[in-house]
Amino acid sequence: MNPTFMNIDADFNLNYYKRGILPATMGCRTYICSNINGPEGPARRGNNAPTTINLPRLGIEAHRDLDTFWSLLDERLNDAKASLLHRYSILQHLKLKDLPFVAGEGLMLGSEGLGPNDSIEPILKNGSWAIGFIGLAETLVALTGKHHGESETSRHLGYDIIQHIRDFTDKTTEETHMNWSCYATPAEGLSGKFVVQDRQKFGIIPGITDKDYYTNSFHVPVGYTISIPDKIQVEAPFHKMCNGGHISYIEVDGYPTPQTIEKIINYAYDTSNISYIGINFHLRYCKDCGTSINEQSHICPKCNSRNIQGISRVTGYLSLDERFGAGKAAERHDRLSHDGSHTNTYSNL
Ligand SMILES: [Zn+2]
Repeated sequence: MNPTFMNIDADFNLNYYKRGILPATMGCRTYICSNINGPEGPARRGNNAPTTINLPRLGIEAHRDLDTFWSLLDERLNDAKASLLHRYSILQHLKLKDLPFVAGEGLMLGSEGLGPNDSIEPILKNGSWAIGFIGLAETLVALTGKHHGESETSRHLGYDIIQHIRDFTDKTTEETHMNWSCYATPAEGLSGKFVVQDRQKFGIIPGITDKDYYTNSFHVPVGYTISIPDKIQVEAPFHKMCNGGHISYIEVDGYPTPQTIEKIINYAYDTSNISYIGINFHLRYCKDCGTSINEQSHICPKCNSRNIQGISRVTGYLSLDERFGAGKAAERHDRLSHDGSHTNTYSNL
């Protein structure tokens, strides 16, 4: 695989840093930096509302015909735009006094000088409207037979699809003078919901509807064997396209040393245009004596207790193992680490 470091350009996070703007303190749900109606940067702003396109369904309905796929995608993009404009028309009836803390206390950009009975519209104008997507991997399987971790052709089609969404949101920003963004939806709930609907409609299609979840946004499927550098190189180019939020995950076995983490981060930032990365491993500890447990054992090595608590990453945040929804629990069950052994460290759940 060819590293993309030759293509790093300054028109992304660096562009903001150079102008004294810290791009994001949290990049997956609210990366939001540009602003057509006020000061740039993420401070005191957020995504007003997202909507998520079920990309795999479009892939299935296109029957491997790309022209059909592009026209279906354009239809859905226009639907997404219409639904968010409808949401805007409702939300602008809210008054400052309806949001006494975030708006009434002046925490949101645009709330300056508003009285209790004024519309929150100036706040909405500074926020963004995010058009998200799920399951690029399954979409590519539907269109070409292979996902973007497996085939370079699919990878380039994947970049074209997400760039198409971004071009649409950029165009809509100019047209409506509101902030629209392309969003790599984390989809804790939708990951399980869409696939159930599609299985009812289309049946079990290998590589597409045969799991209990759709793969997160532009991620390479969690059960696919891929190295840490390749995962970073395949996913990094999507970060710049997804200006509403994005994150890539690296799954490692056991407890990585600080040096291992440093090595991954340095590799990612030195050789790619990646913006936000999460390094996942299965945290476990004894609830009786507090000992950290690295092995897959069900028994505490110190006090022999079986009262072991596990913590793992759902999407952007960590959660107690047992609190995962059905779709995400199925996804975790399939996760393979990206370091040497490519094993699943959640198999004891
Ligand atoms: Zn213990």
